[in-house]
Amino acid sequence: MALQAELVQAGLSVTRDEPMSAHTTYQVGGPADLFAIATGEEQLLFALQRARTLGIPSFLLGGGTNLLVADAGIRGLVIAYRGGRHTFRDADGEVLLWSEAGAPLKELARESVSHGLSGLEWAVDIPGTVGGAVVGNAGAYGGYICDCLRSVRVLEPDGTVHELGKADVTFGYRCSKFKQQAREERSIVLDVTLALRPGDAAEIRERAAQCTKRRWERHPPEPSCGSVFKRTDNYPAGFLIEQSGLKGERRGNAMISPKHANFIVNLGDARATDVRALIELARERVKTQFGEELELEVELVGQW
Ligand SMILES: Cc1cc2nc3c(=O)[nH]c(=O)nc-3n(C[C@H](O)[C@H](O)[C@H](O)COP(=O)(O)OP(=O)(O)OC[C@H]3O[C@@H](n4cnc5c(N)ncnc54)[C@H](O)[C@@H]3O)c2cc1C
Repeated sequence: MALQAELVQAGLSVTRDEPMSAHTTYQVGGPADLFAIATGEEQLLFALQRARTLGIPSFLLGGGTNLLVADAGIRGLVIAYRGGRHTFRDADGEVLLWSEAGAPLKELARESVSHGLSGLEWAVDIPGTVGGAVVGNAGAYGGYICDCLRSVRVLEPDGTVHELGKADVTFGYRCSKFKQQAREERSIVLDVTLALRPGDAAEIRERAAQCTKRRWERHPPEPSCGSVFKRTDNYPAGFLIEQSGLKGERRGNAMISPKHANFIVNLGDARATDVRALIELARERVKTQFGEELELEVELVGQW
């Protein structure tokens, strides 16, 4: 394939028929026709531009932590972005953290905490990239990435690159303007600038430690995508699913976690269709019993 050769020539690591189960925290998902790892912006821009010119659909993978990939896999090119350079710099009493979008959010958060910087304490255990976090407005324990976002640099589908301020990203609950764009017309987040506040280092460390503690007490240990559904206007989704009597419900090797009902976990070699069947079951049961519509937080990707 011409594209594969071009990407290899440009220094990307490329494989064919790569199982997406190896690149998602769910450990579920069939093959991507072509899978490429871009370690920096130049490689990312090249891969996206060549795929577009050749009319090959492309999908940008962050950490693969919020995705359910179909058993039939993904047609076209999947690019995993690993560009993770980042810097901290003082600016008028704040510290600006600039980072390429492929950096792991939790590593940025832990580094910030270790520097005595406040703003990302809630994120010290959240998997995935900082780019993915901006797209889904990741958050926990009252903190959201939008709270400290200053700006993002994005690549538009027409190939132009420009900077957006926080207000231009129109964040909502687990949502940004990027997530609302049709997938083939989505902007790509190239890098982000976060504004952090210097503070009492011991207090900041303690807040981060409390977040870690709460997480390990409540979250199931098996492979998952984190929360499957968003909370509704009235209730946490896990509460509704639990009250519907679905904890422990299984389809194949997928199970609604007995520990936290908003997690559907992979007990080993679960298929995407098994997870999907539990998603539909939870939706139907909650709608019937409570009249509440559950909206997905996890994104379904690939050939369903
Ligand atoms: C155990 C566990 C716990 C979790 N806990 C939380 C939690 O407490 N709070 C929370 O908010 N989330 C949580 N999550 C979900 C997940 O960590 C976040 O949604 C995360 O921010 C997703 O980032 P990612 O890089 O993995 O994105 P991916 O899953 O790889 O991609 C998600 C979407 O973002 C797009 N995307 C990724 N990078 C870019 C980019 N640079 N430019 C444009 N589009 C991009 C992808 O194309 C895709 O559409 C949890 C997940 C797991 C597995």
